[in-house]
Amino acid sequence: MIIDVHTHVWETPCHIGESFLADARQTAGEAYKDISVDLEKHWEAMQAVDKAVVLGFRARHVGVLVPNEYVAEYVGKHAEKLIGFCSVDPQDPDAVEQLDHCVQDLGLRGLKMGPIYQNVAPTDSRFRRILHRAEELRIPTLIHQGTTFCTNVSLEIANPIQLQPLALEFPRLKMVIAHLGHPWVNETLVLIRKNRNVFADISALYYRPWQFYNALVSAMEYGVLDRLLLGSDYPFTTPASTIDALRAVNRMVEGTHLPHIPEAKIEALIARDTLDLLGL
Ligand SMILES: [Zn+2]
Repeated sequence: MIIDVHTHVWETPCHIGESFLADARQTAGEAYKDISVDLEKHWEAMQAVDKAVVLGFRARHVGVLVPNEYVAEYVGKHAEKLIGFCSVDPQDPDAVEQLDHCVQDLGLRGLKMGPIYQNVAPTDSRFRRILHRAEELRIPTLIHQGTTFCTNVSLEIANPIQLQPLALEFPRLKMVIAHLGHPWVNETLVLIRKNRNVFADISALYYRPWQFYNALVSAMEYGVLDRLLLGSDYPFTTPASTIDALRAVNRMVEGTHLPHIPEAKIEALIARDTLDLLGL
């Protein structure tokens, strides 16, 4: 089965503030020029996979407030294929109650967090109380722990190493580090190697082809290729283009003595049983 563990839906500009959109536009690269999402096009893009996770996104600090109800309503229309993850902002005093509501009433099955966007460090008690509840609810948490194009954010709270105490504190909580924690890919790899409850997705990396190739080679050398999950970060890329890029990753070094990633390992990554690994 092919599973895209990282896709977004939102309405622009109603769920996404102007400064976030402006920062995206000013970032070099095609992927950021137009980040609007049309639900029909999202659904069309997901025909390339068997199942897809649709993420909520709540981060008042960068002006992103996608209603969890919006995510729940959309995935409810395609319940055979789409799995909804909610998001809560740790700055909200009632964030834990919101999480309970999303899981128990809206039927959302995972949690998406983004400390750099939410401007709350992973080690902050406001963040930890939410992960503690996610562990109790037995839902997986996908965490954007890495950099971003947004300008008014703190890189100091974005390094994946910041998740280490949480991985130890919540051993039953399944965590996915988005985008291999870029640019701190090696930090992510050593974290997922020693903490069996932590995984990483490879979404939105292939348009930096040298980094993408090196990330996969490093993962192979650390023996953690089997802990990497397929993801697109739709609308920034699509699952089809991500799969194509994975299959083409060795092309850049053809005719050289640089390492090749075995085709079987690439196919295994594409077909990874993410639902099983995350208990979904
Ligand atoms: Zn994303």
